[in-house]
Amino acid sequence: MKNAERTSRVQVKTLFLLFIFGDFLTPKLRSRIRSAIRKIWWMYSSDRKEALKRCKLARGFGWQCEKCKTATKKPEVDHIEPVGSGSWDGIIERMFCSADKLQVLCRECHKGKK
Ligand SMILES: [Zn+2]
Repeated sequence: MKNAERTSRVQVKTLFLLFIFGDFLTPKLRSRIRSAIRKIWWMYSSDRKEALKRCKLARGFGWQCEKCKTATKKPEVDHIEPVGSGSWDGIIERMFCSADKLQVLCRECHKGKK
């Protein structure tokens, strides 16, 4: 199965569950679900992989940070528009954005972003 397909199937299931239970969640549960969604994004998002591919340097040199242009072995994929909080629809929409709304950063740039 293609990653994009799998991602959208997981999305549909998650949305369905949230549609039923979304309004009854405590803040703690909300943040747990949010990090679960992030994990799904991390593992399955084809857009995340596409962003990484775009910055991949020649074999063995890692990835290029899109901000400071240095090479990094541990790239972090950042949402240019922060995922933030609010409605689940919004969270999922911002989380699973297209590759052009993601940026590949080195650890320092990612930390310094806030
Ligand atoms: Zn950087």
